[in-house]
Amino acid sequence: MSPSIRRVLPECIILAVAAIVSAAGLLAPVERQLDDMRTRALTGGSPSDVVIVAIDAQSLKDLNRWPWSRQVHAALLERLDAAAPSAVFFDIDFSVPSGDPDADAALAAALSRTRDYPVILPAFWQNVSAGRQVSRVLTEPLPALTANAGVGLVSIFPGPDGLVRDAVHRDRFGSRAYRSIAAALAGRQDLESGVAYPIDFRISPDSFEYVSYSEVLSGQVADRAFHGKTVMVGATAVELGDNVPVPVHRAIPGVTLQATIYETLVRGMPSPLAWPATIGTTGLLVLCWSLIRHRSWRVQVGFAAVTVVALANLSLYLHGAHDLLLPTATPLLSVVLCLFCGIVLSANRQTLSALLAAIRLKRQESLITGVFSASIDGIVVIDADGRICETNPAAAELFGGTGTSLQARPLRHFIPGLKLRRDAAGSVRAQRLELRATTPDGPCPVEVSVSPANDDPRGLVTVIVRDVRERHRQQAVLRHQATHDPLTRLPNRTLLNRLLDRLPQGAGRAALFMLDLDGFKSVNDTLGHATGDEVLRILGKRLRESLPEDVRMFRIGGDEFAVLVARHASHDELLRIARQVLERVREPVTAADTSLELGGSIGIALYPAHAKNGVELLKCADVAMYTAKSRRSGVEFYDAETDNNTLRNLQMTSALRVALENEQLSVVYQPKVRLRDGMCCGVETLVRWTDPELGPVSPDEFVPLAEGTELINPLTRFTLSRAIKDHTRWCARGIDVTLAVNLSARHLTDATFATEILRSLHNHGLNPGTLELEITETALMDEPERARKVLSRLTDRGVRLAIDDFGTGFSSLAYLKHLNLNTLKIDRCYIQDLPGSGNDRKIVESTLSMAHSLDLEVVAEGVERPEQAALLNELGCDIGQGYGFAKPMPADDFVSWFQARAPRRPALRTVSG
Ligand code: C2E
Ligand code: CA
Ligand code: CA
Repeated sequence: MSPSIRRVLPECIILAVAAIVSAAGLLAPVERQLDDMRTRALTGGSPSDVVIVAIDAQSLKDLNRWPWSRQVHAALLERLDAAAPSAVFFDIDFSVPSGDPDADAALAAALSRTRDYPVILPAFWQNVSAGRQVSRVLTEPLPALTANAGVGLVSIFPGPDGLVRDAVHRDRFGSRAYRSIAAALAGRQDLESGVAYPIDFRISPDSFEYVSYSEVLSGQVADRAFHGKTVMVGATAVELGDNVPVPVHRAIPGVTLQATIYETLVRGMPSPLAWPATIGTTGLLVLCWSLIRHRSWRVQVGFAAVTVVALANLSLYLHGAHDLLLPTATPLLSVVLCLFCGIVLSANRQTLSALLAAIRLKRQESLITGVFSASIDGIVVIDADGRICETNPAAAELFGGTGTSLQARPLRHFIPGLKLRRDAAGSVRAQRLELRATTPDGPCPVEVSVSPANDDPRGLVTVIVRDVRERHRQQAVLRHQATHDPLTRLPNRTLLNRLLDRLPQGAGRAALFMLDLDGFKSVNDTLGHATGDEVLRILGKRLRESLPEDVRMFRIGGDEFAVLVARHASHDELLRIARQVLERVREPVTAADTSLELGGSIGIALYPAHAKNGVELLKCADVAMYTAKSRRSGVEFYDAETDNNTLRNLQMTSALRVALENEQLSVVYQPKVRLRDGMCCGVETLVRWTDPELGPVSPDEFVPLAEGTELINPLTRFTLSRAIKDHTRWCARGIDVTLAVNLSARHLTDATFATEILRSLHNHGLNPGTLELEITETALMDEPERARKVLSRLTDRGVRLAIDDFGTGFSSLAYLKHLNLNTLKIDRCYIQDLPGSGNDRKIVESTLSMAHSLDLEVVAEGVERPEQAALLNELGCDIGQGYGFAKPMPADDFVSWFQARAPRRPALRTVSG
């Protein structure tokens, strides 16, 4: 925008707004009001030649009835005629016959007798509706009357504000033209047709002389009163309802209005100044303003005031002295616009920003008020003495009062623990603390934040009170979740650790039980985890209920539970509790429509006898539990000595697991020699393990460990597969001997085991009759029926079966008969003292005869010396195995060994070490 345009921009905007507003007619009501104000100021009662013969209340009373007979009007006319007026107007409707032809005739006759002056009768427009259409018809006096009288239009029409402001002096109806009453009375012909001329309401209704109709009729009014005057006869009595709303004078009788219109016409009508005058005035004002618009706001206000006064005076003067109507609404609007623009322009940036800041402050204030009342935290303002000045609705609700009822009460009454801390200067210090509030619902935990109001001379303090009941509840739930097992709802390891940590140092006595379920793994494996969970839930509940009140039960992992007796209890009492727990464990559990029987092992550790702290106590109870498990004794107290072994065992178990995963184990083979001819007829596979840290570990040590865990499965799988592979290689070199592998009791309860072995044999194309499984008596007697089933699947397919370590366990011959055995291995302990021990010899002899009667081959184990071999051969023993023939050796060594001795006679070498 060019600078010159920008310079005059405010003026242009003002003029444009003023033009648009007034062109849209929005200023018309203002203009009318201003006009009326001026008119009112100029109203005066200057004398007029109009005399109104008023049909007033007195006349109605005197003449008794209404409407009067037209004879009355005839009489009045005659009376007026005598006074020689200059004109007469009857504002009475003579358009229809009165019903009294004589009276009508009398009036017509009276009219015909009048001389030299006009008598005017009214004609008026009436709306006539025909169907939906409304048309205007002209109602004229009876022709008999108009024959000797003039006719004038009395119709007047109110403006948009309902007031009559102007009059039409000339109108047409069909081919005929009609003048208004005023024009007819004044004898004016020059007025334009259809144009509304303003009525001059400066002429007061008091300007006219009023005489009562009845008084005129009765001759009480002298002729002089009418001589040369314009006489208007019409109703002024309110009861006749002929009142017209007009500006300035409110409502005036129709006849008075006609008189006013007439007087306006006679005196000279005010003429409205045309548009150019408005534009000129407005333009001039804006021009003047443009000269001072850069001045201060005071100058602007002064300019506006002067302009308004000048404009008012000018318009008054023009109206009063020259009958000119100057429109002032548009110029006044432009003054207002100028003032507004002037102030805005003159206000400097600082003033404006101060104004904006004030608005912002107001907003901020209402925002703070909003936050205060909407806050869900209680907000309390207290004075320096701690008395409540103000509370928000949340605080009032918390304390059970209302804003006013709480006022001036000490806040400590509601929050007893609240103490305001003050610094050296005595001002309250900010603080945040958790306290208890007194509420109608009882004590309630609250978080209280105290903060002094900054720079407040009264030392007011804001206290925010937050109800933390819900938060505490949530925290309690979380705490419970963190310290309890969701499945059994028992406290968990976290809580147990916490309680153990709090055991009184050294002094108090306590006992911790560790319970591990036996057989739970197979429940999980065979019936699924959902059933496993159900079993744990039932057991958890059952055990908790069976324990004394002061003894707590925990679930600390899979199928491991702990029991804490946090008081002194005698050895016997602890044992009794433990046995009671085991009894409840052994009671059948029904889950998934199956009745299950479980067992358990409990280890008990005492505090502080066995351990000085919680961590150690847990470990001790664990060790004791493992002892109970391996001894199958049910309950064991911790024993430091066993623990040393146990520790090593734990270490060994995890090392074995790693070794098995990485196939760090190996196998060796110990030959079995047919005593008769010294031929090698088979080998026994023996596993070997050398741990990097533990060194070489004996199978006597790690095999039982593996049997105690699930590690026995991979161990057997490993031995078997190595043995089969080696045997395949031997066969390729023409060595076909029986291959014996040791089995553990665990496998005999596992139905899948047989399948696995048969598949392995099939995969390597090994004849099942080549494989011999060595099983101890004890293993067979664990679950005889189940073992028989598993083994029969194998023996049915031709796999051989040997009883290992015979004589060390207890087995029933009757049972052994059912097993399809092939071999019986007499344990080393019966061999080692041969040939010296007569007793052992007897045992060996009877075993040999019993075995042979059952068609079993007999192997003597641990044959170390030649004389042993000789004796055994003599007694009829079939096979010998022992260091005397060969120590266990790797697969390749066995090949050399076998080939070296193949065709020779049995030769025993004496073994040293
Ligand atoms: P076992 O089945 O009775 O195996 C024979 C054990 O006696 C072997 O000990 C063997 O080295 C040893 N032995 C052989 N001849 C003599 C001898 O003349 N004098 C003496 N003093 N000992 C002799 P090893 O290899 O230490 O095995 C010990 C036990 O470990 C085995 O007893 C067996 O019960 C178990 N075992 C070894 N390997 C395996 C295996 O692969 N699987 C399973 N389940 N158990 C195994
Ligand atoms: Ca064996
Ligand atoms: Ca053996």
